[in-house]
Amino acid sequence: MKLIFLGTSAGTITVERNVSAIVLDLVKERNALWLFDCGEGTQHQMLKAKLSLAKLEHIFITHLHGDHLFGLPGVLTTRSLMQNMSPLTLFGPKGIKQFIETVINISYSWLTYPLTIIEIEKPMTVLDNEQFIVTCDALQHRVPCFGYRIVEKDTMPKLDVDRLRSENVPLGPHYAELKLGKTVQLEDGRIIDGKAYFGETKPGKKIAILGDTIPCDAAINLAKNVDVLVHEATQKHELVDKANERGHSTTLQAASIAQQSCTKKLIITHISPRYRLSDNASIIDECRQRFPNSDIATDFYRVDIE
Ligand SMILES: [Zn+2]
Ligand SMILES: [Zn+2]
Repeated sequence: MKLIFLGTSAGTITVERNVSAIVLDLVKERNALWLFDCGEGTQHQMLKAKLSLAKLEHIFITHLHGDHLFGLPGVLTTRSLMQNMSPLTLFGPKGIKQFIETVINISYSWLTYPLTIIEIEKPMTVLDNEQFIVTCDALQHRVPCFGYRIVEKDTMPKLDVDRLRSENVPLGPHYAELKLGKTVQLEDGRIIDGKAYFGETKPGKKIAILGDTIPCDAAINLAKNVDVLVHEATQKHELVDKANERGHSTTLQAASIAQQSCTKKLIITHISPRYRLSDNASIIDECRQRFPNSDIATDFYRVDIE
């Protein structure tokens, strides 16, 4: 599981940063990519990052501001130029359906694969499959805005076949019963308890990817005990009034959310265009004063979540 940042600028592109988009790479887990926000130019960034549009399974939009949204028509319609595209689900605040339908109709475009659009109006479980649960909660921004919490389900323990083999347990006839955790008697008289041969439960990973917000309880709840929290930090803390007035957080405020939620790692993104990449060190220093395990995202920054 990996996070790949495709755009890390707030509001508008700069020569160094594109606007918001993050890919959760689940190729290893389910041969799929999940996209969180889709600012203008996202399909180009995916191409540069060698991420295939064909592997997109779900797109989650935090809110309908253009810097998080305007890349969607391109991503959706380019996908239609490719053969045999898999179905896609798009989650986002109310209005996203009208936006997509209008753009497609007005531009004489069409989709060649099934697109399901699910509009979000309140905190809910947006997805629950055999591997993941994704929930969302309402953040505090100038427009309806959501944060997403992605929880990988624990992997159930499996029968340790290698250990059974090393103890010369013939697997043939007994295998199915041992797999169910039952006890069997072997021909040589040994009694084997299947339960004693199960490996460990592998705890699933937890990630929170939040949209634009001022500090709020929902942010803390979404990020509770996550392995990685992705939080906006539009401004340095000296501009706290300006940031909060516009519905945004500062470095220190993002770090406080990470601290209060017992996050393991904080990654800040959505950096104001006033800053250059050369300011990264001084920006992230502010977070680290309060929450040491912090990093600042740049475009194409990748984080392994293992
Ligand atoms: Zn934004
Ligand atoms: Zn916004």
